Amino acid sequence: MTSFQPVLRLFVPCPLRKTFDYLPPADVEAYALAPGVRLKIPFGRRKLVGVLLEVVADSEVDRAALKPAIEVLDSEPLLDAQLFQLLDWASRYYHHPVGEVYQAALPVLLRQGEAAEFKGAVFWRATAEGCELSEERFKRAPKQWQVLQWLRRAGQVSEFELNAALENWRPVVKRLAEQGWVVSERLPQMPVTRAPVERPALNHEQAQAVTEISAGLAGFHPFLLNGITGSGKTEVYLTLTEQVIASGRQVLVLVPEIGLTPQLVERFQARLHVPIAVLHSGLNDQERLDAWLIARAGTAPLVIGTRSAVLTPFKDLGLVIVDEEHDASFKQQEGFRYSGRDVAVMRARLGKIPVVLGSATPSLETLYNVAQGRYRELRLTQRAGNAVPPKIHALDVRHQPIQEGVSRPLIQLMRQHLEANGQVLLFLNRRGFAPALLCHDCGWSAECKRCDTHMVLHQADRRLRCHHCLREIPLMPACPACGSAELRAVGHGTERIEELLKEQFPEYPVCRLDRDTTRRKGSLDRMLDEVRQGKYRILIGTQMIAKGHHFPDVTLVGILNAEQGLYSADFRGLERMAQQILQVAGRAGRMERPGTVVMQTHHPDHPLLQELLGAGYMQFAQTLLAERRQAELPPYTAIALFRAEASRKELTLSFLEQVRDALRATGIAEVLALGPVMAPMERRAGRYRAQLLVQSDKRSALHEALDLALREVEGSALGRKVRWSLDVDPVETF
Ligand code: ADP
Ligand code: ZN
Ligand code: ZN
Repeated sequence: MTSFQPVLRLFVPCPLRKTFDYLPPADVEAYALAPGVRLKIPFGRRKLVGVLLEVVADSEVDRAALKPAIEVLDSEPLLDAQLFQLLDWASRYYHHPVGEVYQAALPVLLRQGEAAEFKGAVFWRATAEGCELSEERFKRAPKQWQVLQWLRRAGQVSEFELNAALENWRPVVKRLAEQGWVVSERLPQMPVTRAPVERPALNHEQAQAVTEISAGLAGFHPFLLNGITGSGKTEVYLTLTEQVIASGRQVLVLVPEIGLTPQLVERFQARLHVPIAVLHSGLNDQERLDAWLIARAGTAPLVIGTRSAVLTPFKDLGLVIVDEEHDASFKQQEGFRYSGRDVAVMRARLGKIPVVLGSATPSLETLYNVAQGRYRELRLTQRAGNAVPPKIHALDVRHQPIQEGVSRPLIQLMRQHLEANGQVLLFLNRRGFAPALLCHDCGWSAECKRCDTHMVLHQADRRLRCHHCLREIPLMPACPACGSAELRAVGHGTERIEELLKEQFPEYPVCRLDRDTTRRKGSLDRMLDEVRQGKYRILIGTQMIAKGHHFPDVTLVGILNAEQGLYSADFRGLERMAQQILQVAGRAGRMERPGTVVMQTHHPDHPLLQELLGAGYMQFAQTLLAERRQAELPPYTAIALFRAEASRKELTLSFLEQVRDALRATGIAEVLALGPVMAPMERRAGRYRAQLLVQSDKRSALHEALDLALREVEGSALGRKVRWSLDVDPVETF
C-alpha cells in the first residue's frame, strides 16, 4: 500500500545542488499540503527543516530508501509562488545550492522550526510617575529623557518603532522600567505613527520624477534616479511610497547598511501613518521574525531593510526602492553570494512592478543598463531647498610640508574654518595608528604569521592587529630580530591623525569615527548625535562617515588619501575612488552654508582626477566605461570568479585547474577561463588562496558553461580537500 503513497519533494538546507524526496509523515494527506510549507525531516543523523517544493506521484529514488518526514510545521505556505520563482532564479543565476537559497529567505527562528505566528507587538508607555518627572532629573541620562519624552508625547510606542528609530534602546528602556517610570504590554494590533506631517512642495525635477514613476506603477519599469547628494531623492521615495501605500499595496526600501537605517526610517516614520517593518542585522531573532511576519501578512505596508530584506515575502508588493544602489554592501560576500540590488530588479520584474535605483554616483553597471535602454534615467541636478552643492578642489601637496599625512595648507585651511565657527571633517580610509611597524636599525617589519600582510599598529591599546585574520599581539618593546628599540610606525591611520589634530588644535574637540571607536552597540549613534549638537568641532573618520549621515555644520571636508584608488589592483578601484570622494564631499554644505571640499593629491594633473573634479562624476563614468569596453571588463562582459583556499598551495591550484579544464571541456567557445593564479594576498588566516576568473561577452554562454563545469567538479575528490566557492558578478576580484 505504501507504494501508492505520494512523495514530497523538498528544499533542504545543505550544500548539494538538488532537492530531496521524502514520504509524508504518518496520517498526513500529502496532496493537501501546499508548496511553501515547512516540514521537519530526518537528514543523516540530524533533524532539519525543509520547505516543500511539490508533491509528486513517484520518485527516482527507490521507495524503500525514502524516509518519512517527521512533521508538517505550517498550516499555510510561508513562501508564495512568486518568491519561489525568485529564489529559483537566484539559485540558478548564482549557481548556488537551492536548499541554501531557500534557507536564506527564512528568519533564523523559522529555520529552527519555530511557529510562524505573530504574537502581537510590545508597546511601551510612561507611567503616571514617569509623566511627572522633569528634564532636570535626566541631566546625566539624556537618552533616557529622550525616550521618556517620546513615550509621553506619543502615549504608547511599539518596539517596532523603537527599533526603527533608535539604536540600542533596550538598556535605556530597561533602566526606566526598573524605576517604575515606564511599563510595557503586548497588544494584538500593530503600531501606527501619529506624528504631524509636513511635506515640502516638490521642485520641478522631483515632480517630474514622481510623475514618470507613478505612471509606471502598473508594470515592470526599472528606473535610475540619478541625483546629486541633497537633491531630494529621499523626498521622491517618500512621495511615491505614500502613493503606493494609499493604493493598498506595499513598498520595499533597501538600504546599504545598518548605520544608515535609523535616519532614513525616521523620515519615513515622520511622514507616513503606517507600521514599518525594519529588517537589519541589529535585530534579535524574535524581532526579525516579527518584522518578517508583519511584512508577509501585509500588516506593515512599508519594509525598510538591508540586503537580505529583498527575500522577504509580501502580501502585495507594489514598489521596490534601492537607495545608494552603487554600494558594494548590497553584494553578499560569503555563502549565497547574491546582489541585493540585482535580485531586487528581478523581483520587480517577476512582480510586474517598478523598481527605483537611487544614487548620486550610479554604478557603471546601472549606467550601462541606462545606455542600453533597459533602465530609464531620471535626473535631479539641483540641491533641494537653497543648499549649494560643494565644489571639490585638488590640493597639490607636492613639495608641501606634510605631517602625519596632513599637509600644511590643509592645516591652515582647517584653522580658518574653525575660527569662522565651522565644523571640519577629515576622511581617511584606514583605521588604527599606522599600517606598519618597522625596525629602523635592521629593517625588520611586523608581519602577520598567518597572512601575507603587515600587522597594523594600534597605539592606544599598545597592540598589533592583523585586519584580515584578526590575530593580535602586544606591541613589543624592542625589535625581535636585532633587539633595537628603534621601532618606527610607518604610514597613517585615523588614530594617528587624531593624535596630530589634538596636538595642532588643542582648543577644538576632536571626534574619531571608525570601527574601533564605535565597536560598542549604540556608540555610533551617540557620537553622531554629539557631532550634530556641536560637541565636537573636528571629525576624523573612515567611510563610516561617508554614508548617508547629515552634518549640517560641516563647512570644510578634507580628503586625505583617496588618490590611492589610482593604483588599485581591482578593476573597480577607480569607480570606488570616485564614489567615495563624491560621497564624502556630499557631507558638506547641506543647508545654506556652502561647503569647501579639498582633496590632497600628489597627482593634481592626473587626467582622470582632473576629469572627475572638473567635469564631474557622469563624465568620469563615461571615460571609465570606455576603458572597460576596451579591456573587455564588466559591464561589457560577464564574469564569475572561482576561489579556492587550502592549507597547501598546490591543492588550490590543482583544484582550480580541474575547474578550468572542465570549463574548456564544455567546448563553449565564447567562455574564457583565465588562470588559475594565486590571490594578490596569497595567504590569509593561514590558508593559501587562489582564483580562477571566468569571462564571457555572452552571459547565457557563461551560465551554461558554469552549469556544465559544476556538474563535473562537484563530485571531485580534490574539491573536498579545498574550501571553494563560486562568485557570479563579483564586486571584488582579489
Ligand atoms: P537626497 O536623498 O538626494 O540626499 P534629501 O531628500 O535628503 O536628498 O533632501 C536633502 C534635504 O533637502 C533634506 O533636508 C530635505 O528635507 C530637503 N528637501 C528635499 N526636497 C525638498 C523640496 N522640494 N523643498 C524643500 N526642501 C527639500
Ligand atoms: Zn631590528
Ligand atoms: Zn592575519
